[in-house]
Amino acid sequence: MVEVLRLGHRRGRDDRISTHVALTARQFGASSVTFSGERDDSMLESVRDVVERWGGPFDIRYREDWRNVIRDFDGPVIHLTMYGVPYYEDIDGLEGDFGGSEDDILVVVGGEKVPSEVFEIADYNLAIGNQPHSEVAALAVFLHDLFQGDWTDREFEDAEIEVFPSEEGKETRKTDTSS
Ligand code: SAM
Repeated sequence: MVEVLRLGHRRGRDDRISTHVALTARQFGASSVTFSGERDDSMLESVRDVVERWGGPFDIRYREDWRNVIRDFDGPVIHLTMYGVPYYEDIDGLEGDFGGSEDDILVVVGGEKVPSEVFEIADYNLAIGNQPHSEVAALAVFLHDLFQGDWTDREFEDAEIEVFPSEEGKETRKTDTSS
């Protein structure tokens, strides 16, 4: 299981990017996202609404105390940061710790400002390139490589609606969730 911790959410300013962190985590194989920073029930609700319509399982949580989320986590904690060591060097080296193993993994992504303590309490500080970009991009690339592309086979359960892949345009169908 891969869990994602998103630090430093700011109500009103980060709604869109925090939502995208959650949706990216869900699409690319994580099982949950925990938000920290300012509590934002409407943002949490909008992510829950997507999961309800498009399927799960995917848990959405809020924890004010991100330190304890990291400290209490039973498994490797990987902090994605432009200041870290190149992930493609370590992802193989970490094979025994998490790549393809049964261990649960916590992937931490930051927001506008990341407290230096995060670098100290994470087990690994990994960079997806050493240039600044985005928590959404970093998470997508990292999860894609972590799952070695296997997320493409993932089926979402109890969806109310699903895409009917089409070359022509937008096609969706309602699914039967009655049984
Ligand atoms: N300057 C901020 C700091 O204190 O680290 C970075 C903020 S950046 C807008 C938000 C988040 O995107 C970071 O905390 C990190 O998780 C992710 N991120 C951005 N660039 C990255 C990179 N090159 N590699 C890994 N993660 C990155």
